[in-house]
Amino acid sequence: MMAKKIIKASRVERASRVAKVEVEAEETVKKQRAPKDLTTLRGFRDVLPEEEPYWNRVRDNARQLAEYYSFGRLDLPLLEYADLFQRTLGKATDVIEKEMYVFTDPSGYDVALRPEATAQTVRAYINHGMLNRPQPVKLYYEGQMFRHDRPQAGRYRQFNQFGFESIGEADPIVDAQLIVIGERFFRDLGLNVVVEINSIGTSETRKAYVMELVSYFRGFRKNLSEDDKRRLQKNPLRLLDSKEPYMAELLKDAPQIVDWLDEASKNHFMKVLEFLEEIEVPYRLNPHLVRGLDYYNRTVFEMYLAGETSSEASQGALLSGGRYDGLVEMLGGREGTPACGFACGMERVVSALKEAGVDPNPRFQPRVFFAQLGDAARRKGLRLFEEFRAEHIQVAEAFGKGSLKAQLEVANKMNAAYTIILGQKEVLDGTIIIRDMDSGAQEIVDAGKVVSIMQKRLVL
Ligand code: AMP
Repeated sequence: MMAKKIIKASRVERASRVAKVEVEAEETVKKQRAPKDLTTLRGFRDVLPEEEPYWNRVRDNARQLAEYYSFGRLDLPLLEYADLFQRTLGKATDVIEKEMYVFTDPSGYDVALRPEATAQTVRAYINHGMLNRPQPVKLYYEGQMFRHDRPQAGRYRQFNQFGFESIGEADPIVDAQLIVIGERFFRDLGLNVVVEINSIGTSETRKAYVMELVSYFRGFRKNLSEDDKRRLQKNPLRLLDSKEPYMAELLKDAPQIVDWLDEASKNHFMKVLEFLEEIEVPYRLNPHLVRGLDYYNRTVFEMYLAGETSSEASQGALLSGGRYDGLVEMLGGREGTPACGFACGMERVVSALKEAGVDPNPRFQPRVFFAQLGDAARRKGLRLFEEFRAEHIQVAEAFGKGSLKAQLEVANKMNAAYTIILGQKEVLDGTIIIRDMDSGAQEIVDAGKVVSIMQKRLVL
């Protein structure tokens, strides 16, 4: 047995509880031979060059949002001490019970391929003394995760996530902003999503609720599958997202966690929802959303393609997250450090983009065209161009063409919404003309204000 040999070879006396579990587990697993046909492991896949444009769009979009909202990039190792996850994710969760790739490394340590990166992010926050930085510390990561899950549509054993985590701020605006970022990520890619949201209160309020839930489900014990019976005994909250067909009916009358929330959690939740309404992010309350991992508290959310719900989504949630106020302290960081974040499944986004027929290589499509008449205007135009670029507004031009007519033709062909026109008279006056290409209406504005004016028009 490999693990046994390694432990012996490295003469490591310390056989922790986890290592024993691992060795025992290995002994019960039937040894398998690698197939002869060069296939990859089940649930692992290659990404070929033709799929790469989709991946680039997903990665670029996430990176741009991280930059825009000031989330610093954090690169984390793929391998960690198994203990990091075992301590944080929860003993009775699927990830810890059966999905983690745990093995003993050649030095004799129990290590795990990371199943997720939130616990790691918090480890890094503590390790690098980030509590001494201005709070919240906003971090962003992307990379491979590993879970020995049952492969199916949208579920792999090696998959990629990008995640945004905000550590050190308890205000509900943080939850709302993270949800806004997630929703914008999809909107920028041309995908409409709906946010499902719930609050699971604190661990104390949850205890009282769980007792109520258990007593409700005990009444139906004989109707439950073996898996659900186990959940009822070990982690009753997980019953809420059991996918058994009978569950929808049973859940209708089950107690709902929102009715058990403490006052502070209730207020927090109301504020998050108010922010979302204010900024017009579509959401749906899902009283059965609890999330799989133990460290969550208060706000939990998931995002699905518009038109799908959590119970019927073809490949599960595209993005999931929530608040995890206890995790920093649980890992030995400063008591009461709040935090909130989300992770997005990149394979699922790539497949949604393909399904929706989104062009992975959108052509440069500026909505503003710059037309000039004469050398002075051209010179001034060059500078103006840079001002637009600094504000991330793409502007097209045809500096090579002399007549206004020819330039407007180019603008029409590229479907520009506006053309800004600078002639000799405007250069002298310090003005510029904005032409609405649909109506043909023109107005003269102060040249110094044209960038901010266009900025406002383009978001309308
Ligand atoms: P979680 O870390 O479980 O909160 O998951 C966050 C997101 O990662 C989910 O919303 C999914 O989009 C994605 N995800 C989780 N597990 C898998 C998997 N096995 N394969 C592909 N994507 C996954």
